[in-house]
Amino acid sequence: MNILLSNDDGVHAPGLSALAQALSDVATITVVAPDRDRSGASKSLTLDRPLHPQRLLNGFFSVDGTPTDCVHLALNELMSVSPDMVIAGINAGANLGDDVLYSGTVAAAIEGRHLGKPSIAISLAGRGDHYNTAALIVKQVLAGAHRLNVPPKTILNINVPDVPLNEIKGIQLTRLGHRAPSDRPIKMQDPRGRDRYWIAGVGQMQDAGEGTDFFAVKAGFVSITPLQVDMTNYDVFDEIRSWLESV
Ligand code: MN
Repeated sequence: MNILLSNDDGVHAPGLSALAQALSDVATITVVAPDRDRSGASKSLTLDRPLHPQRLLNGFFSVDGTPTDCVHLALNELMSVSPDMVIAGINAGANLGDDVLYSGTVAAAIEGRHLGKPSIAISLAGRGDHYNTAALIVKQVLAGAHRLNVPPKTILNINVPDVPLNEIKGIQLTRLGHRAPSDRPIKMQDPRGRDRYWIAGVGQMQDAGEGTDFFAVKAGFVSITPLQVDMTNYDVFDEIRSWLESV
Protein backbone atom coordinates (compact mmCIF):
# COMPACT_ATOMS: atom_id res chain seq x y z
CA MET A 1 0.00 0.00 0.00
CA ASN A 2 1.13 3.53 -0.87
CA ILE A 3 0.09 6.28 1.52
CA LEU A 4 0.47 10.05 1.40
CA LEU A 5 0.80 11.68 4.81
CA SER A 6 0.29 15.36 5.49
CA ASN A 7 -0.76 17.56 8.41
CA ASP A 8 -1.33 21.15 9.46
CA ASP A 9 1.06 21.31 12.42
CA GLY A 10 4.07 21.39 10.11
CA VAL A 11 6.65 18.97 8.78
CA HIS A 12 8.54 18.86 12.11
CA ALA A 13 5.50 18.06 14.26
CA PRO A 14 5.80 15.02 16.56
CA GLY A 15 2.39 13.66 15.53
CA LEU A 16 3.49 13.44 11.90
CA SER A 17 6.68 11.51 12.63
CA ALA A 18 4.85 9.21 15.05
CA LEU A 19 2.38 8.36 12.28
CA ALA A 20 5.06 7.97 9.60
CA GLN A 21 7.06 5.69 11.85
CA ALA A 22 4.09 3.54 12.84
CA LEU A 23 2.94 3.04 9.26
CA SER A 24 6.35 2.47 7.71
CA ASP A 25 6.18 -1.30 8.28
CA VAL A 26 2.77 -1.71 6.59
CA ALA A 27 2.98 0.83 3.75
CA THR A 28 5.24 2.90 1.55
CA ILE A 29 4.97 6.36 3.00
CA THR A 30 5.39 9.74 1.31
CA VAL A 31 5.24 12.78 3.58
CA VAL A 32 4.40 16.23 2.18
CA ALA A 33 3.66 18.81 4.86
CA PRO A 34 3.75 22.58 5.50
CA ASP A 35 7.10 24.07 6.53
CA ARG A 36 5.50 25.55 9.67
CA ASP A 37 2.41 25.30 11.85
CA ARG A 38 -0.59 26.06 9.66
CA SER A 39 -3.29 25.01 12.14
CA GLY A 40 -6.50 26.87 11.38
CA ALA A 41 -5.59 27.21 7.69
CA SER A 42 -8.81 25.42 6.75
CA LYS A 43 -9.07 24.70 3.00
CA SER A 44 -6.99 27.66 1.85
CA LEU A 45 -4.83 27.45 -1.28
CA THR A 46 -1.81 29.65 -1.97
CA LEU A 47 -2.52 31.51 -5.21
CA ASP A 48 -0.37 34.66 -4.99
CA ARG A 49 3.08 33.07 -5.38
CA PRO A 50 4.70 29.84 -6.56
CA LEU A 51 5.39 27.06 -4.04
CA HIS A 52 8.85 25.76 -3.29
CA PRO A 53 8.93 22.14 -2.06
CA GLN A 54 12.14 21.05 -0.34
CA ARG A 55 13.24 17.49 0.38
CA LEU A 56 14.49 17.22 3.96
CA LEU A 57 17.22 14.83 5.14
CA ASN A 58 14.60 12.42 6.54
CA GLY A 59 12.94 12.23 3.09
CA PHE A 60 9.91 14.34 4.02
CA PHE A 61 8.86 17.11 1.63
CA SER A 62 8.52 20.53 3.24
CA VAL A 63 6.30 22.99 1.39
CA ASP A 64 5.98 26.74 2.05
CA GLY A 65 2.22 26.53 1.77
CA THR A 66 -0.99 25.30 3.35
CA PRO A 67 -2.06 21.72 4.09
CA THR A 68 -4.32 21.82 1.04
CA ASP A 69 -1.39 23.06 -1.09
CA CYS A 70 0.66 20.10 0.16
CA VAL A 71 -1.87 17.43 -0.80
CA HIS A 72 -2.65 19.17 -4.08
CA LEU A 73 1.04 19.33 -4.99
CA ALA A 74 1.79 15.80 -3.77
CA LEU A 75 -0.97 14.13 -5.77
CA ASN A 76 -0.50 16.22 -8.92
CA GLU A 77 3.27 16.56 -9.07
CA LEU A 78 5.52 15.23 -6.33
CA MET A 79 4.49 11.57 -6.10
CA SER A 80 5.66 9.33 -8.91
CA VAL A 81 3.24 6.60 -7.80
CA SER A 82 -0.32 7.67 -7.05
CA PRO A 83 -1.14 6.73 -3.44
CA ASP A 84 -3.92 4.38 -2.37
CA MET A 85 -4.88 6.67 0.46
CA VAL A 86 -4.28 10.06 2.09
CA ILE A 87 -3.93 10.44 5.85
CA ALA A 88 -3.66 13.83 7.59
CA GLY A 89 -2.33 14.09 11.13
CA ILE A 90 -1.78 13.15 13.80
CA ASN A 91 -3.02 16.58 14.78
CA ALA A 92 -1.93 18.10 18.08
CA GLY A 93 -5.37 18.63 19.59
CA ALA A 94 -8.93 17.60 18.87
CA ASN A 95 -10.88 18.38 15.71
CA LEU A 96 -14.41 18.02 17.03
CA GLY A 97 -17.68 19.69 16.05
CA ASP A 98 -17.15 23.11 14.48
CA ASP A 99 -13.37 22.64 14.60
CA VAL A 100 -13.60 20.81 11.29
CA LEU A 101 -14.43 24.08 9.53
CA TYR A 102 -11.16 25.68 10.65
CA SER A 103 -8.96 22.61 10.64
CA GLY A 104 -6.11 22.28 8.17
CA THR A 105 -5.91 18.59 9.09
CA VAL A 106 -9.47 17.94 7.96
CA ALA A 107 -8.89 20.17 4.91
CA ALA A 108 -5.88 18.10 3.85
CA ALA A 109 -8.01 14.95 4.00
CA ILE A 110 -10.80 16.65 2.05
CA GLU A 111 -8.32 17.67 -0.66
CA GLY A 112 -7.22 14.03 -0.86
CA ARG A 113 -10.81 12.91 -1.31
CA HIS A 114 -11.46 15.68 -3.80
CA LEU A 115 -8.61 14.26 -5.88
CA GLY A 116 -10.10 10.79 -5.69
CA LYS A 117 -8.26 9.13 -2.80
CA PRO A 118 -9.86 7.58 0.29
CA SER A 119 -8.81 9.94 3.06
CA ILE A 120 -8.62 10.07 6.83
CA ALA A 121 -8.07 12.97 9.23
CA ILE A 122 -6.63 11.85 12.57
CA SER A 123 -6.34 14.00 15.68
CA LEU A 124 -5.17 13.42 19.23
CA ALA A 125 -7.61 15.00 21.66
CA GLY A 126 -5.31 16.21 24.41
CA ARG A 127 -1.92 17.69 25.23
CA GLY A 128 0.03 15.31 23.01
CA ASP A 129 1.29 12.66 25.40
CA HIS A 130 0.10 9.58 23.49
CA TYR A 131 0.59 10.00 19.75
CA ASN A 132 1.40 6.32 19.71
CA THR A 133 -2.18 5.49 20.69
CA ALA A 134 -3.55 7.42 17.71
CA ALA A 135 -0.94 5.88 15.39
CA LEU A 136 -1.96 2.37 16.47
CA ILE A 137 -5.65 3.21 15.96
CA VAL A 138 -4.83 4.31 12.39
CA LYS A 139 -3.03 1.01 11.85
CA GLN A 140 -6.06 -0.88 13.15
CA VAL A 141 -8.39 1.08 10.84
CA LEU A 142 -6.07 0.47 7.87
CA ALA A 143 -5.99 -3.26 8.55
CA GLY A 144 -9.75 -3.38 7.97
CA ALA A 145 -9.93 -0.64 5.33
CA HIS A 146 -10.19 -3.04 2.40
CA ARG A 147 -13.59 -4.22 3.71
CA LEU A 148 -14.90 -0.65 4.01
CA ASN A 149 -16.35 1.09 0.99
CA VAL A 150 -16.53 4.77 1.92
CA PRO A 151 -18.52 6.64 -0.73
CA PRO A 152 -16.84 9.34 -2.84
CA LYS A 153 -16.70 12.84 -1.35
CA THR A 154 -16.64 11.39 2.16
CA ILE A 155 -13.72 11.39 4.57
CA LEU A 156 -13.35 9.82 7.98
CA ASN A 157 -12.61 12.28 10.78
CA ILE A 158 -11.05 10.35 13.66
CA ASN A 159 -10.37 11.75 17.13
CA VAL A 160 -8.46 9.72 19.70
CA PRO A 161 -8.37 10.36 23.46
CA ASP A 162 -4.87 11.22 24.67
CA VAL A 163 -4.44 8.11 26.86
CA PRO A 164 -2.44 4.86 26.69
CA LEU A 165 -3.90 2.35 24.23
CA ASN A 166 -5.10 0.00 26.99
CA GLU A 167 -7.30 2.79 28.40
CA ILE A 168 -9.20 3.27 25.12
CA LYS A 169 -12.80 2.07 25.70
CA GLY A 170 -13.56 1.28 22.06
CA ILE A 171 -14.53 3.02 18.84
CA GLN A 172 -17.80 4.92 18.34
CA LEU A 173 -19.45 6.09 15.13
CA THR A 174 -20.49 9.68 15.80
CA ARG A 175 -21.97 12.86 14.37
CA LEU A 176 -20.39 16.29 14.70
CA GLY A 177 -21.26 18.15 17.87
CA HIS A 178 -21.32 21.92 18.10
CA ARG A 179 -19.34 24.56 19.97
CA ALA A 180 -20.47 27.89 21.37
CA PRO A 181 -18.70 30.89 19.80
CA SER A 182 -15.13 31.16 21.02
CA ASP A 183 -13.97 33.77 23.52
CA ARG A 184 -13.17 37.28 22.33
CA PRO A 185 -9.63 37.89 21.07
CA ILE A 186 -7.11 38.71 23.79
CA LYS A 187 -6.07 42.35 23.50
CA MET A 188 -2.42 43.11 24.21
CA GLN A 189 0.23 45.66 23.39
CA ASP A 190 3.41 45.17 21.42
CA PRO A 191 6.73 46.54 22.79
CA ARG A 192 5.99 49.87 21.09
CA GLY A 193 2.63 50.23 22.78
CA ARG A 194 0.48 49.39 19.78
CA ASP A 195 -2.72 47.40 20.20
CA ARG A 196 -2.52 43.79 19.09
CA TYR A 197 -5.09 41.00 19.25
CA TRP A 198 -4.54 37.30 19.74
CA ILE A 199 -7.43 35.15 18.59
CA ALA A 200 -8.38 33.11 21.62
CA GLY A 201 -9.07 29.45 22.07
CA VAL A 202 -11.99 27.34 21.00
CA GLY A 203 -15.54 27.78 22.24
CA GLN A 204 -17.10 25.64 24.94
CA MET A 205 -18.98 22.49 23.94
CA GLN A 206 -22.66 23.20 23.35
CA ASP A 207 -24.18 20.25 21.50
CA ALA A 208 -22.12 17.51 23.05
CA GLY A 209 -24.67 14.89 24.05
CA GLU A 210 -24.69 11.18 23.39
CA GLY A 211 -23.98 10.35 19.75
CA THR A 212 -21.68 13.31 19.20
CA ASP A 213 -17.95 13.24 18.66
CA PHE A 214 -17.45 15.30 21.84
CA PHE A 215 -19.34 12.78 23.94
CA ALA A 216 -17.42 9.78 22.62
CA VAL A 217 -13.98 11.27 23.19
CA LYS A 218 -14.89 12.56 26.65
CA ALA A 219 -16.07 9.06 27.57
CA GLY A 220 -12.74 7.59 26.49
CA PHE A 221 -13.78 6.26 23.07
CA VAL A 222 -12.21 6.85 19.68
CA SER A 223 -14.67 8.90 17.61
CA ILE A 224 -15.14 8.28 13.89
CA THR A 225 -17.33 10.79 12.03
CA PRO A 226 -17.88 10.44 8.28
CA LEU A 227 -17.77 13.95 6.82
CA GLN A 228 -19.03 15.27 3.51
CA VAL A 229 -18.49 18.64 1.89
CA ASP A 230 -22.10 19.41 0.87
CA MET A 231 -23.14 22.14 3.33
CA THR A 232 -26.48 22.77 1.59
CA ASN A 233 -29.27 23.06 4.11
CA TYR A 234 -32.01 21.12 2.35
CA ASP A 235 -34.41 21.61 5.28
CA VAL A 236 -34.76 25.31 4.49
CA PHE A 237 -35.55 24.91 0.77
CA ASP A 238 -39.34 25.11 1.20
CA GLU A 239 -39.11 28.22 3.36
CA ILE A 240 -36.87 30.07 0.91
CA ARG A 241 -38.79 28.86 -2.13
CA SER A 242 -42.06 30.31 -0.85
CA TRP A 243 -40.28 33.52 0.19
CA LEU A 244 -38.88 33.84 -3.35
CA GLU A 245 -42.42 33.72 -4.76
CA SER A 246 -43.21 36.90 -2.82
CA VAL A 247 -40.03 38.78 -3.74
MN1 MN B 1 -3.03 21.49 13.96
